[in-house]
Amino acid sequence: MIWVALLDVLMLAISALLLPPGTAAAVAPPTALMLPFAFGAAYLWRSPQSRTAADWSLMLAISGILLSVCLMGVAVGDLLLERYLNIMLFVATTAIVIFSVPFPQTLAIAGIALAFYLLFQIGFAGSDTGTAISGFMFFASGLGATVVARRTMNILAHKSFLLELRDRKRLAELARTNLRLDRLSKTDGLTGAANRHFLQERSRDLWASGCPVAILMCDIDEFKALNDHLGHLEGDRCLTEVAQIVTECTRPGTDCVARFGGEEFLVLMPGANEAEAVAVAERIRRAVGVANLPNPRSRTKPTVTVSVGVALRPSKGPALSYDEVQKRADAALYAAKRCGRNRVRVWNPALDSRGLSSAA
Ligand code: GH3
Ligand code: MG
Ligand code: MG
Repeated sequence: MIWVALLDVLMLAISALLLPPGTAAAVAPPTALMLPFAFGAAYLWRSPQSRTAADWSLMLAISGILLSVCLMGVAVGDLLLERYLNIMLFVATTAIVIFSVPFPQTLAIAGIALAFYLLFQIGFAGSDTGTAISGFMFFASGLGATVVARRTMNILAHKSFLLELRDRKRLAELARTNLRLDRLSKTDGLTGAANRHFLQERSRDLWASGCPVAILMCDIDEFKALNDHLGHLEGDRCLTEVAQIVTECTRPGTDCVARFGGEEFLVLMPGANEAEAVAVAERIRRAVGVANLPNPRSRTKPTVTVSVGVALRPSKGPALSYDEVQKRADAALYAAKRCGRNRVRVWNPALDSRGLSSAA
């Protein structure tokens, strides 16, 4: 509509330059009549309002523009009126093609344009009824085809909008499902800790990066006694709580807590030295003790306790694989069990020489 207004101003200037002064003065008012319609429609379409009001206001604006073209023809005179009426029909056709208005408004624009044509042909151009009707029929067939094309375009646009909505919905569902699957593939279903598969991936990456890593093996003491006495459901609840405590004692986003076996949790601590690893191991041991989870038949204490074995990837000497360092952490855990449970032990070469390398 802003373009229509600009073209209209251009037309005013051209008329003033090319037409005889009398004719230019006569054409100016109907030409200027187009401006309020164009600006009015542009304003209404920019301000928030219902879709129906916008569609009907657009139809009214286009009708006003068509009327001003007819009046310009009348102002120019009988000789050029026919040409202006053709221009008016061309404007109506273009408007129908350009603006995505609904079918009733499209039909109304076509009807109004044809009515103007008939009215001005008979009323001002002095054509006889037969000539006017034959012209009307000719342009009616063209405009009718444009209306049908507009309707088809509207239906196609509506369909493609609905298809796009459906695709977006499916994509969002797919993304949610993928996220859920990704989470399920990485976590242990009972405790929410990482699973062995994820642990393998993480340890492979850490070993490939060459950074220092500490491994903590945490094992719940006398867990069989808890299960036997309080039942497996209580045992499961205890596993979930211990997993939560271990996670809370580690560095979020840096350390990886994984369920290694039945009641064993492995913590991977990238970049940690021995003092830091032992500090975290002690924090875990103390936090589990403070939680006061019952284990009445435990020979260590009537509450749940954990033993922790610590081993570090050596920074000097021969390189060790992840499996070898994990076995060292296991040996340290076994030593903690042998020393009475509920304690932290760090791997040292003496553990290997004593043959304490089997799992706790
Ligand atoms: P220790 O202090 O030497 O570690 O003794 P323990 O009793 O903790 O170790 P043991 O290996 O003798 O027993 C581990 C028990 O953990 C046996 C098994 O039934 C139980 N367990 C393993 N997985 C689960 C599980 O998912 N849920 C429950 N409730 N129990 C489990
Ligand atoms: Mg145990
Ligand atoms: Mg065990």
